[in-house]
Amino acid sequence: MKETKEETEQEMFRELLDQINIGLMACRVYHNAPDTIDAYYVNNAMAVLMGYEPMELLELYKKSIWNNLFPEDRENLQEKVNRVLTGQQHFTEFCEDIWIVRKNKEIRWVNLRIVSRHENESGWNYCLSCQDITERVETKQKYQEEMTYYTTFAKQSLAFFHCNMTNNVVEKKNSSNMKMLETMVPQNVDEILASIGDTIPLPEERAIYDAHFTREAMIKAYEQGVFHFAMEHWDTCIDGWIETSYDMLKNPVTGELVAFMFARDINARILAQKIIGRITEQEYDYIGCIDVARKEYSIYIQSQNGTRLPPIGPVDFESTIAEMIEKFVPAEDAEMTAVNVNFSHILEELQKNDVYTFVTRMLENDGKPRYKRVSFIYLDDMKQTILFSRSDIQAIMMEEQEQKQVLGHALRAAEQASKAKSEFLSRMSHEIRTPMNAIIGLSALAASDVDKPDVMADSIAKIGMSARYLLSLINDILDMSRIESGRMELNESVFDFDKLIFNINNIIFPQASKKGVDYDVIVNRYVEKAYLGDETKIQQVLINILGNSIKFTPKGGKITLHVEQLECVDNRARMRFEISDTGIGIDEDYLPHLFEAFTREANGYTATVQGTGLGLAIAKSMVEMMDGDIRVRSIKNVGSVFTVELFLGVSEATRERLNLVESMNLTKLHALIIDDDVLVCESTEQIFRIWDYRLNGWIPE
Ligand code: ADP
Repeated sequence: MKETKEETEQEMFRELLDQINIGLMACRVYHNAPDTIDAYYVNNAMAVLMGYEPMELLELYKKSIWNNLFPEDRENLQEKVNRVLTGQQHFTEFCEDIWIVRKNKEIRWVNLRIVSRHENESGWNYCLSCQDITERVETKQKYQEEMTYYTTFAKQSLAFFHCNMTNNVVEKKNSSNMKMLETMVPQNVDEILASIGDTIPLPEERAIYDAHFTREAMIKAYEQGVFHFAMEHWDTCIDGWIETSYDMLKNPVTGELVAFMFARDINARILAQKIIGRITEQEYDYIGCIDVARKEYSIYIQSQNGTRLPPIGPVDFESTIAEMIEKFVPAEDAEMTAVNVNFSHILEELQKNDVYTFVTRMLENDGKPRYKRVSFIYLDDMKQTILFSRSDIQAIMMEEQEQKQVLGHALRAAEQASKAKSEFLSRMSHEIRTPMNAIIGLSALAASDVDKPDVMADSIAKIGMSARYLLSLINDILDMSRIESGRMELNESVFDFDKLIFNINNIIFPQASKKGVDYDVIVNRYVEKAYLGDETKIQQVLINILGNSIKFTPKGGKITLHVEQLECVDNRARMRFEISDTGIGIDEDYLPHLFEAFTREANGYTATVQGTGLGLAIAKSMVEMMDGDIRVRSIKNVGSVFTVELFLGVSEATRERLNLVESMNLTKLHALIIDDDVLVCESTEQIFRIWDYRLNGWIPE
């Protein structure tokens, strides 16, 4: 009965032990074999902890209780257990944290204690407890590691402080910057946080700081799972950019919240960023990266001024770019652009060259296309990322085109000039040879006709003509070379205007009558008796032009020289000479080259007329020297009008003509104007009116 009761109690006791969450093991150590530990009971929790069935574990322990230990721990532990067994240490003092290896090879931390000891005749009964403390140990270790990490990190920072947020206590603080040290003078966390805030001058940045860097905000953030926060701001301590951050952890032992705050000098990085940003803004519409494996891109930098920008991403490269081409690339460039931007094509091009670039056009908001350069380059050696950019090159392209045009013009002009010069040389030799041959031939003829004075006189006259032509030819060439080398100068003096016209008429009139061409001079309005200027050059200009008119006006035609003084301001008179003819006219294509040296219009008529192609070039240069200009209007087969405008000086001394007219008092005279040209009659009438002639009404008004 007694035995049964004891057995029942034992049974109940065992059941109770199996309910307990702590692993328990009972063992015996016999007096006669103190080295042998005989395990005879393990509870459920012990079996679960070791990863066995209870009976299985007991069997294992019956062989040896050291089975689940690391070999290196085993010896150490046996020695400590022995101290208890041999009575060197009281069993209550035995407490060890050890690693055990579970059946499935998993490693756990356990706390091992000896809970009880009872002696009987044969030896001692021990009870050991085993408690899983893996999580506690790991949390502690992690905390220690983080503490070490932040303390190391602190050394690289501009400033740091380590504080207990729960208790508002600063544990540690330091800074390599004097001004920052000053901000950390206050003792508690709240005060330091506020004093750091005062070093942030920009209101927007200060507001962000205030929202995140108070003890209250930080504790709340931790509770919501935010353990880290960082912000960049301008700071008055270094007068540059700083990154201020915090990291928080909970002390696993005390449960208190610990924060590490850091200030890092990021001035160089921000400066570099800003420089890149500015350059990018000026040089690029955008810069992005393509993830080669995913065929996705993201845009990292965009210009403020850029238009038609692709979405920031990350988005699919091929479909997005195809959409961009359809929307923004002009239809005529779309196919070429699609080929250039094809993903495999880009990879192929980057196999061949480091950089792949192409140019396309994109339609702007106003619908006008602008040139864009798109470039691709691998960013990494693994060829996993491609950097791509787009820049606006409209201005460069325009400049290039303009330059090409200018160069093209210059080339054509140079070609034309060299062609004209060689043509001139060949013509010149021909032109010189003709009169020279005439002179040589006629002089031989004259020598042989000494006894025939009439024939001889004729030959000598012709020799004279040829010689004069030769002289004028050489004069023209000399003039031109003087102009081209800048050696031609104005020889200004007071000259008689009537005499100038008279001299011109003396040369032109005989030539015109000889050719059977009518020649009229109309001095339209009042002109001065004398002017200050280079008379010879004016005469040469007008004779060159009038000479051409005679040359290029067939028999029966008409040439008119129209002279007028347009205005006179501050003793500077603007003169206009208009030479019109009813000649062959000038072709529209040749007009732009009319005043170029050594050129002549390529037509049958010109070829029959003597000339060098220098007359008008000389005339133009001379007129320009006189601050004037020369223009031409011409209709083929109708005629040409050359207009020369230039400035001449007028002084009081030159106003003689007016005085003369006044002193003559012609007002009593009657006049009759007779001419077959109405224009001549009209201009003469004008002059008479200025002179106050009495017109008796028989001239039609
Ligand atoms: P040149 O008369 O010696 O040939 P110019 O320089 O004086 O040289 O003239 C150049 C060319 O301009 C002439 O060869 C001719 O083809 C054209 N030209 C000049 N004046 C006239 C004009 N009044 N009518 C028609 N063609 C003209």
